[in-house]
Amino acid sequence: MSKTIIAGPCSVESRQQLQSVVEILCRVPHVKLIRGGVWKPRTRPGGFEGLGEPALRWMKELSESGLRMADGSPVRFCCEVARPEHVELCSQYSIRDIWLGARTTANPFMVEELCAALRGSGMNVMVKNPLNPDVRLWLGAIERLQQCGVTITAAIHRGFSMYDNHGYRNDPLWEVPMEMRRLLPDMPILCDPSHIAGSSTLVLSVARAAMQLAFDGLMLEVHPAPGTALTDAGQQLTPAAMFDVVNSLTDAAGGIVSDQMSAELTMLRDNIDDVDRQLLQLLEKRMQCSRQIAVIKRQAGLAVYQSERWAEVLTDRLRQAEALGLDVAFIKELLEKIHGESVRIQMD
Ligand code: PEP
Ligand code: MN
Repeated sequence: MSKTIIAGPCSVESRQQLQSVVEILCRVPHVKLIRGGVWKPRTRPGGFEGLGEPALRWMKELSESGLRMADGSPVRFCCEVARPEHVELCSQYSIRDIWLGARTTANPFMVEELCAALRGSGMNVMVKNPLNPDVRLWLGAIERLQQCGVTITAAIHRGFSMYDNHGYRNDPLWEVPMEMRRLLPDMPILCDPSHIAGSSTLVLSVARAAMQLAFDGLMLEVHPAPGTALTDAGQQLTPAAMFDVVNSLTDAAGGIVSDQMSAELTMLRDNIDDVDRQLLQLLEKRMQCSRQIAVIKRQAGLAVYQSERWAEVLTDRLRQAEALGLDVAFIKELLEKIHGESVRIQMD
């Protein structure tokens, strides 16, 4: 399995806390980096904001203590940076791997400042998605850094802050990282199920979903005693719970496709191509009807939007969708899009 795991506490809280978790994590084969929050962005003032320099010092000491990662290399840490001073301090304490957090990616001014600080530093940078589901803003931060010659080693999907997060802390909106994959096919994309889930009980299922969607790895928050954590106590995993997640990756990652499976896949994909062709032709036919209706409405002086007709159409189609065993919420969304386009065409 070639998946990358980054694991470690949300925040570094004490030398003892860091060391105890590092001693476990560094032996796990897939763990390539150990995370530890040094500066913490807090939604409201008054909370624990990270220890800053002492945390970096303990990281450096542990890297030089002779402790090794599973591949035999010295223990390697990463942390979030948000300001040029953070980059400078990381560099002083030999931290070579850093990431931009969601709040930083969302702000091109801050990204520009970090570009200047990172230029020529040789650091490896990962970029979390912005708080809002805007793939172009995420891509823009990556491009800005790359234009300064900064090496981007991964994009990290940590979900989006929405009004309704559908039971998660941050809505996964998987279509956004999937679009990122389409735009940057060679960029590794990791998933941060801890910040998506917001609760340790949901992390495993989010991690499994990420594996089904072919993410290249995970960033996991792991704490020796999550209940006592100073930040994100509800979502951090115990080391034991982390092993369940790591083991589930091994299961999902195997992929052996026999000749027969490959033939069946080709046939089913051909069927899908054909169905899509028919769907598009039908949509074109539907839009033609809309155009003709528009002429009549214009001649008759009728409004384009006829709310009663739309209510009838929707009720009828959703009943049909239910009878066909289709997901009614999905079909509603699809019909709203189609109707929206029909209204737009009639207003042209
Ligand atoms: C974090 O990783 O600890 C963090 C603050 O993440 P995000 O930027 O995703 O909110
Ligand atoms: Mn956190």
